[in-house]
Amino acid sequence: MSSLSLEGKVALVTGASSGLGAHFARVLADAGAEVILAARRIDALEKLAAEIGKGARPLALDVTDRTAVESLLGSLPRLDILVNNAGITKPAPALDLTEADWDSVLDINLKAVFHVAQVCARVMKDAGGGSIVNIASILGLRQAGALLPYNVSKAGVIQLTKTLALEWARYGIRVNALAPGYFATEINAGFWETDAGQAMMKRIPQRRLGELPDLDGPLLLLASDASRYMTGSVIEVDGGHLVSTL
Ligand code: NAD
Repeated sequence: MSSLSLEGKVALVTGASSGLGAHFARVLADAGAEVILAARRIDALEKLAAEIGKGARPLALDVTDRTAVESLLGSLPRLDILVNNAGITKPAPALDLTEADWDSVLDINLKAVFHVAQVCARVMKDAGGGSIVNIASILGLRQAGALLPYNVSKAGVIQLTKTLALEWARYGIRVNALAPGYFATEINAGFWETDAGQAMMKRIPQRRLGELPDLDGPLLLLASDASRYMTGSVIEVDGGHLVSTL
Protein backbone atom coordinates (compact mmCIF):
# COMPACT_ATOMS: atom_id res chain seq x y z
CA MET A 1 0.00 0.00 0.00
CA SER A 2 2.98 2.34 -0.38
CA SER A 3 1.13 4.13 -3.19
CA LEU A 4 -1.17 5.60 -0.51
CA SER A 5 1.77 7.25 1.24
CA LEU A 6 2.08 11.04 0.93
CA GLU A 7 5.62 11.10 2.29
CA GLY A 8 7.59 14.01 0.77
CA LYS A 9 4.49 15.67 -0.72
CA VAL A 10 3.15 19.16 -0.05
CA ALA A 11 -0.63 19.54 0.28
CA LEU A 12 -2.82 22.64 0.51
CA VAL A 13 -6.27 22.49 2.12
CA THR A 14 -8.61 25.48 1.79
CA GLY A 15 -11.24 26.06 4.47
CA ALA A 16 -9.00 24.17 6.89
CA SER A 17 -10.13 26.06 10.00
CA SER A 18 -13.06 23.75 10.80
CA GLY A 19 -15.15 20.74 9.83
CA LEU A 20 -14.13 18.57 6.89
CA GLY A 21 -11.15 20.77 5.98
CA ALA A 22 -9.51 20.53 9.42
CA HIS A 23 -10.04 16.78 9.33
CA PHE A 24 -8.63 16.45 5.80
CA ALA A 25 -5.49 18.32 6.92
CA ARG A 26 -4.96 15.89 9.81
CA VAL A 27 -5.46 12.85 7.53
CA LEU A 28 -3.04 14.12 4.86
CA ALA A 29 -0.42 14.92 7.51
CA ASP A 30 -0.82 11.47 9.08
CA ALA A 31 -0.14 9.97 5.63
CA GLY A 32 3.14 11.91 5.48
CA ALA A 33 2.29 15.17 3.69
CA GLU A 34 3.51 18.59 4.71
CA VAL A 35 0.22 20.49 4.95
CA ILE A 36 -0.55 24.15 4.30
CA LEU A 37 -3.72 25.15 6.15
CA ALA A 38 -5.55 27.97 4.37
CA ALA A 39 -8.63 29.84 5.65
CA ARG A 40 -9.60 33.23 7.01
CA ARG A 41 -9.49 32.42 10.75
CA ILE A 42 -5.75 32.53 11.46
CA ASP A 43 -6.15 31.76 15.20
CA ALA A 44 -7.91 28.47 14.47
CA LEU A 45 -5.30 27.60 11.82
CA GLU A 46 -2.38 28.33 14.15
CA LYS A 47 -3.92 26.08 16.80
CA LEU A 48 -4.49 23.28 14.27
CA ALA A 49 -0.97 23.60 12.83
CA ALA A 50 0.52 23.30 16.33
CA GLU A 51 -1.65 20.25 17.02
CA ILE A 52 -0.70 18.54 13.73
CA GLY A 53 3.03 19.39 13.84
CA LYS A 54 4.96 17.64 11.02
CA GLY A 55 5.66 20.93 9.21
CA ALA A 56 1.97 21.96 9.02
CA ARG A 57 1.71 25.72 8.50
CA PRO A 58 -1.17 28.22 8.62
CA LEU A 59 -1.93 30.59 5.75
CA ALA A 60 -4.47 33.41 6.19
CA LEU A 61 -6.40 33.42 2.93
CA ASP A 62 -9.83 34.46 1.73
CA VAL A 63 -10.31 32.32 -1.39
CA THR A 64 -12.38 35.07 -3.04
CA ASP A 65 -9.49 37.55 -2.80
CA ARG A 66 -8.01 37.08 -6.26
CA THR A 67 -4.89 39.13 -5.59
CA ALA A 68 -4.09 37.18 -2.41
CA VAL A 69 -4.72 33.82 -4.12
CA GLU A 70 -2.36 34.74 -6.93
CA SER A 71 0.40 36.12 -4.72
CA LEU A 72 0.24 33.56 -1.89
CA LEU A 73 -0.52 30.38 -3.86
CA GLY A 74 1.12 31.34 -7.16
CA SER A 75 4.44 31.78 -5.37
CA LEU A 76 4.45 28.39 -3.62
CA PRO A 77 7.76 26.69 -4.46
CA ARG A 78 6.09 23.30 -4.60
CA LEU A 79 2.58 21.84 -4.44
CA ASP A 80 1.58 18.22 -5.04
CA ILE A 81 -1.97 18.11 -3.68
CA LEU A 82 -4.79 20.66 -3.51
CA VAL A 83 -7.95 19.95 -1.53
CA ASN A 84 -10.37 22.63 -2.70
CA ASN A 85 -12.67 22.50 0.30
CA ALA A 86 -13.77 26.02 1.39
CA GLY A 87 -17.52 26.42 1.04
CA ILE A 88 -20.61 28.09 2.47
CA THR A 89 -24.36 27.91 2.20
CA LYS A 90 -27.14 30.51 2.58
CA PRO A 91 -30.40 28.65 3.01
CA ALA A 92 -33.48 30.48 1.69
CA PRO A 93 -36.54 29.62 -0.40
CA ALA A 94 -35.84 30.50 -4.05
CA LEU A 95 -38.58 33.16 -4.06
CA ASP A 96 -36.87 35.04 -1.21
CA LEU A 97 -33.27 34.60 -2.30
CA THR A 98 -31.27 37.82 -2.51
CA GLU A 99 -28.74 38.62 -5.20
CA ALA A 100 -26.10 39.09 -2.48
CA ASP A 101 -26.65 35.57 -1.13
CA TRP A 102 -26.63 34.04 -4.62
CA ASP A 103 -23.37 35.84 -5.39
CA SER A 104 -21.61 34.96 -2.15
CA VAL A 105 -22.37 31.23 -2.46
CA LEU A 106 -21.39 31.06 -6.15
CA ASP A 107 -18.29 33.22 -5.56
CA ILE A 108 -16.90 30.99 -2.80
CA ASN A 109 -18.18 27.56 -3.85
CA LEU A 110 -17.58 27.76 -7.60
CA LYS A 111 -15.67 30.80 -8.87
CA ALA A 112 -13.01 30.62 -6.14
CA VAL A 113 -12.74 26.84 -6.52
CA PHE A 114 -11.81 27.42 -10.15
CA HIS A 115 -9.45 30.29 -9.43
CA VAL A 116 -7.60 28.43 -6.66
CA ALA A 117 -7.36 25.35 -8.93
CA GLN A 118 -6.06 27.46 -11.83
CA VAL A 119 -3.33 29.16 -9.77
CA CYS A 120 -2.29 25.88 -8.10
CA ALA A 121 -2.32 24.01 -11.42
CA ARG A 122 0.23 26.46 -12.81
CA VAL A 123 2.56 25.57 -9.91
CA MET A 124 1.89 21.85 -10.42
CA LYS A 125 2.39 22.05 -14.19
CA ASP A 126 5.86 23.50 -13.75
CA ALA A 127 6.75 20.56 -11.48
CA GLY A 128 5.30 17.89 -13.79
CA GLY A 129 1.95 17.22 -12.15
CA GLY A 130 -0.22 16.93 -9.06
CA SER A 131 -3.59 15.91 -7.69
CA ILE A 132 -6.56 18.22 -7.18
CA VAL A 133 -9.46 17.04 -5.04
CA ASN A 134 -12.53 19.27 -5.24
CA ILE A 135 -15.10 18.93 -2.48
CA ALA A 136 -18.47 18.77 -4.20
CA SER A 137 -21.59 17.34 -2.51
CA ILE A 138 -24.39 14.91 -3.22
CA LEU A 139 -26.37 18.15 -3.70
CA GLY A 140 -24.44 18.60 -6.94
CA LEU A 141 -26.12 15.42 -8.18
CA ARG A 142 -29.57 15.70 -6.57
CA GLN A 143 -31.17 18.65 -4.81
CA ALA A 144 -32.59 19.86 -1.50
CA GLY A 145 -35.12 22.68 -1.16
CA ALA A 146 -34.12 26.16 -0.01
CA LEU A 147 -30.51 25.56 -1.07
CA LEU A 148 -30.67 26.70 -4.68
CA PRO A 149 -27.29 28.47 -5.01
CA TYR A 150 -25.56 25.71 -3.05
CA ASN A 151 -27.02 22.95 -5.26
CA VAL A 152 -26.09 24.90 -8.40
CA SER A 153 -22.56 25.62 -7.15
CA LYS A 154 -21.88 21.97 -6.35
CA ALA A 155 -23.27 20.79 -9.71
CA GLY A 156 -20.87 23.34 -11.19
CA VAL A 157 -17.97 21.89 -9.18
CA ILE A 158 -18.66 18.47 -10.70
CA GLN A 159 -18.63 19.81 -14.27
CA LEU A 160 -15.58 21.94 -13.45
CA THR A 161 -13.81 18.81 -12.15
CA LYS A 162 -14.49 16.84 -15.32
CA THR A 163 -13.54 19.65 -17.70
CA LEU A 164 -10.29 20.46 -15.86
CA ALA A 165 -9.46 16.73 -15.77
CA LEU A 166 -9.80 16.68 -19.54
CA GLU A 167 -7.69 19.79 -20.08
CA TRP A 168 -4.95 19.13 -17.53
CA ALA A 169 -4.28 15.40 -17.97
CA ARG A 170 -1.56 16.36 -20.48
CA TYR A 171 0.30 18.14 -17.66
CA GLY A 172 0.12 15.18 -15.27
CA ILE A 173 -2.50 16.95 -13.16
CA ARG A 174 -5.39 14.75 -12.04
CA VAL A 175 -8.65 16.44 -11.02
CA ASN A 176 -11.25 14.44 -9.09
CA ALA A 177 -14.08 15.23 -6.70
CA LEU A 178 -15.46 13.89 -3.45
CA ALA A 179 -19.23 14.20 -3.10
CA PRO A 180 -19.98 13.81 0.60
CA GLY A 181 -23.45 13.16 1.90
CA TYR A 182 -24.39 14.75 5.25
CA PHE A 183 -21.78 15.27 7.96
CA ALA A 184 -22.49 17.35 11.10
CA THR A 185 -20.27 20.47 10.88
CA GLU A 186 -20.62 24.26 11.25
CA ILE A 187 -22.19 24.50 7.78
CA ASN A 188 -25.35 22.65 8.91
CA ALA A 189 -25.16 23.23 12.70
CA GLY A 190 -28.56 23.17 14.40
CA PHE A 191 -30.33 21.39 11.51
CA TRP A 192 -29.98 17.82 12.77
CA GLU A 193 -31.95 18.57 15.94
CA THR A 194 -34.95 19.84 13.96
CA ASP A 195 -37.86 17.65 12.79
CA ALA A 196 -36.72 18.14 9.18
CA GLY A 197 -33.18 17.08 10.14
CA GLN A 198 -34.39 13.95 11.94
CA ALA A 199 -36.64 13.05 8.99
CA MET A 200 -33.75 13.54 6.59
CA MET A 201 -31.54 11.18 8.60
CA LYS A 202 -34.19 8.45 8.35
CA ARG A 203 -34.01 8.63 4.54
CA ILE A 204 -30.31 7.72 4.49
CA PRO A 205 -30.14 3.96 3.81
CA GLN A 206 -27.43 3.50 6.46
CA ARG A 207 -29.67 5.51 8.89
CA ARG A 208 -26.90 7.78 10.16
CA LEU A 209 -24.93 10.90 9.33
CA GLY A 210 -21.43 10.53 7.98
CA GLU A 211 -18.58 10.52 10.48
CA LEU A 212 -15.39 12.36 9.49
CA PRO A 213 -13.25 9.16 9.31
CA ASP A 214 -15.71 7.84 6.67
CA LEU A 215 -13.97 10.24 4.26
CA ASP A 216 -10.39 9.16 5.00
CA GLY A 217 -10.10 6.29 2.50
CA PRO A 218 -11.69 8.15 -0.43
CA LEU A 219 -9.61 11.28 0.30
CA LEU A 220 -6.32 9.37 0.49
CA LEU A 221 -7.19 7.41 -2.64
CA LEU A 222 -7.76 10.59 -4.67
CA ALA A 223 -4.86 12.54 -3.15
CA SER A 224 -2.27 9.79 -3.59
CA ASP A 225 -0.67 7.87 -6.43
CA ALA A 226 -3.03 4.98 -5.61
CA SER A 227 -5.48 6.72 -8.00
CA ARG A 228 -2.90 7.52 -10.68
CA TYR A 229 -5.23 6.30 -13.49
CA MET A 230 -8.27 8.19 -12.11
CA THR A 231 -9.13 11.67 -13.29
CA GLY A 232 -12.52 13.31 -13.73
CA SER A 233 -14.02 10.89 -11.19
CA VAL A 234 -16.59 11.80 -8.56
CA ILE A 235 -16.66 9.59 -5.46
CA GLU A 236 -19.90 9.67 -3.47
CA VAL A 237 -19.54 9.10 0.27
CA ASP A 238 -23.07 9.22 1.58
CA GLY A 239 -24.21 6.05 3.32
CA GLY A 240 -26.30 5.29 0.23
CA HIS A 241 -28.25 8.56 0.35
CA LEU A 242 -28.17 8.98 -3.44
CA VAL A 243 -29.68 5.53 -3.92
CA SER A 244 -32.49 6.08 -1.41
CA THR A 245 -35.86 4.81 -2.60
CA LEU A 246 -38.05 7.19 -4.61
P1 NAD B 1 -17.52 24.32 7.66
O1 NAD B 1 -18.39 25.52 7.69
O2 NAD B 1 -17.07 23.73 8.95
O3 NAD B 1 -16.21 24.58 6.79
C1 NAD B 1 -16.14 25.46 5.72
C2 NAD B 1 -14.77 26.07 5.73
O4 NAD B 1 -14.64 26.97 4.61
C3 NAD B 1 -14.50 26.88 7.00
O5 NAD B 1 -13.19 26.62 7.44
C4 NAD B 1 -14.65 28.32 6.51
O6 NAD B 1 -13.90 29.21 7.28
C5 NAD B 1 -14.07 28.16 5.12
N1 NAD B 1 -14.40 29.28 4.25
C6 NAD B 1 -15.62 29.78 3.96
N2 NAD B 1 -15.50 30.86 3.16
C7 NAD B 1 -14.18 31.02 2.94
C8 NAD B 1 -13.41 31.97 2.20
N3 NAD B 1 -13.99 32.97 1.53
N4 NAD B 1 -12.07 31.84 2.18
C9 NAD B 1 -11.46 30.84 2.85
N5 NAD B 1 -12.13 29.92 3.59
C10 NAD B 1 -13.47 30.03 3.62
O7 NAD B 1 -18.32 23.25 6.79
P2 NAD B 1 -17.87 21.84 6.21
O8 NAD B 1 -19.04 20.98 6.29
O9 NAD B 1 -16.59 21.39 6.82
O10 NAD B 1 -17.66 22.21 4.67
C11 NAD B 1 -16.45 21.93 3.97
C12 NAD B 1 -16.80 21.62 2.52
O11 NAD B 1 -17.51 20.39 2.48
C13 NAD B 1 -17.69 22.67 1.86
O12 NAD B 1 -17.29 22.85 0.51
C14 NAD B 1 -19.06 22.02 1.90
O13 NAD B 1 -19.90 22.48 0.90
C15 NAD B 1 -18.66 20.57 1.70
N6 NAD B 1 -19.67 19.59 2.10
C16 NAD B 1 -20.09 19.51 3.39
C17 NAD B 1 -21.05 18.57 3.72
C18 NAD B 1 -21.56 18.41 5.13
O14 NAD B 1 -22.55 17.70 5.33
N7 NAD B 1 -20.94 19.02 6.13
C19 NAD B 1 -21.58 17.73 2.74
C20 NAD B 1 -21.13 17.85 1.44
C21 NAD B 1 -20.17 18.78 1.13
